[in-house]
Amino acid sequence: MSTVETTYAGSFIAGAQHRNAGDSLEVVNPADGRRFAEVAAASAADVDAAVQAAHKAQRTWSELAVSKRGEILGRAAHHVEEHLDELIPLLTREQGKTLRDSKIEITKAIDTLMHYVGLSKSLRGAHTPNLDPGVEGYVLRRPLGVVGAIVPWNFPTTLLANKLAPALVAGNAVVAKPAATTPLTTLRFAELLAEGGLPEGVFNVVTGQGSVAGEALVTHEKIRKIAFTGSTPVGERIMAQAARGTKRVTLELGGSDPMIICDDADLAAASSAASMGRFYNCGQACLAIKRVYVFESVADEMIESVVAKAKRLKVGRGDADGTQMGPMHTEAQRAEVAGQVSRSVDAGGDLRTGGGPPEDADLADGFFYAPTVVTDPPHDSAMAVEEVFGPALPIWRVKDLDEAIERANASQFGLGSSVWTRDLKRAREAATRIEAGYTWINSRTKVYDELPFGGWKSSGYGKEHGEEAFDFYTETKSVVLGAS
Ligand code: NDP
Repeated sequence: MSTVETTYAGSFIAGAQHRNAGDSLEVVNPADGRRFAEVAAASAADVDAAVQAAHKAQRTWSELAVSKRGEILGRAAHHVEEHLDELIPLLTREQGKTLRDSKIEITKAIDTLMHYVGLSKSLRGAHTPNLDPGVEGYVLRRPLGVVGAIVPWNFPTTLLANKLAPALVAGNAVVAKPAATTPLTTLRFAELLAEGGLPEGVFNVVTGQGSVAGEALVTHEKIRKIAFTGSTPVGERIMAQAARGTKRVTLELGGSDPMIICDDADLAAASSAASMGRFYNCGQACLAIKRVYVFESVADEMIESVVAKAKRLKVGRGDADGTQMGPMHTEAQRAEVAGQVSRSVDAGGDLRTGGGPPEDADLADGFFYAPTVVTDPPHDSAMAVEEVFGPALPIWRVKDLDEAIERANASQFGLGSSVWTRDLKRAREAATRIEAGYTWINSRTKVYDELPFGGWKSSGYGKEHGEEAFDFYTETKSVVLGAS
């Protein structure tokens, strides 16, 4: 392993870098396996310092007019935007994704901040006159206090912004914990927001292991809510821990989104969507097309088209010109997906392309895995029942819409879904019957700030995005104004 180029003190607390007391976290470039930075990990005491700073800052922040909070956040977000050229390569280096995908991600994070800045100008409440003669009532919204935001490594900035924006506009202060393997972009993001005028202590970052810093955050007595994105097992653990103190939680967890392709679908558009929706971000997205169910009569054409697209994808370093798909984030993640694919093929699936690292010798040191397509693995195989968090797509033939919906719903997950058909009746039926928080009709995996997003079943609890997000960062109180 080569020398480390950069060492960071660790957390960002009360508007300044804070030296953590814990051991170092290693930051590795997934494209070549080289460790290029070390970040000191937060201990429980460091997490306490961050929560105390947030607690101290929150009251003053909450007393500002909501539009003023929006104005301050908007200015800070513009400052981040002015540093896009610095953030994009940093995200690619620590996460692995292409420069293009880093740009899309960070731009989306800024858009989300700005969306809630916009909403801060138009928030209105409910008022009921005449509850009794001369008596009226209104509903007051109050912030929760200090929110802990815990995010994974696949989209460090957007998944943070989804929580930060409604939390701050609603008057909360935030302590965020990025994944142990992607602390750098988040630290710089926080620094830039502070430089752009976000008051000290309103947004703090603690870097560290989930089992230490994450748990310390979840169990801290001054934390009123945990907003979590990550795996279902960790989400369930957090929900159980949050029961002590009746803390609020929102959980954005795993998914295994089905895509249903009917015999009257625009197959060219559907196959592009299957390819993009599966291989984008190297398949490491919660909202991704993870199971395809295609009507038998068009299955061969569809499968040929998706396999051809998978073979054509240019795999390479995220920072290299022309790369369409970068490496997986870690060796462990690659091994996990490789195991799921080989178990499903051993069980009877037909490996149509991929199934291992690409042959390019220049990529041998990175965590690359070739775009993979497997047809008709058994319905109880790993690729059918587990979340596949990498660039491997299973495709099944089905006889009709009923079978497709039955298969789609035979999953513990219920995050996203899509249906491809020109028949409005079929589309509406699928949108009604599929058990998931989102259904795209002739469209795929794009999340809109305007619409609430959140999973059903084991995919989570609560909503992000939309005005609905405010419901998860506030308490409401009914106030009655008496007659005298
Ligand atoms: P994990 O659940 O392992 O980690 C997510 C975050 O939680 C990390 O910051 C992690 O820290 C932290 N963490 C781990 N253990 C604990 C703990 N005991 N207490 C508190 N925090 C903890 O998820 P992955 O890293 O595996 O991320 C991928 C998962 O995230 C996939 O299942 C994917 O579907 C899901 N996801 C869901 C999305 C959604 O919106 N529904 C969006 C994106 C991803 P550390 O890094 O130190 O382990």
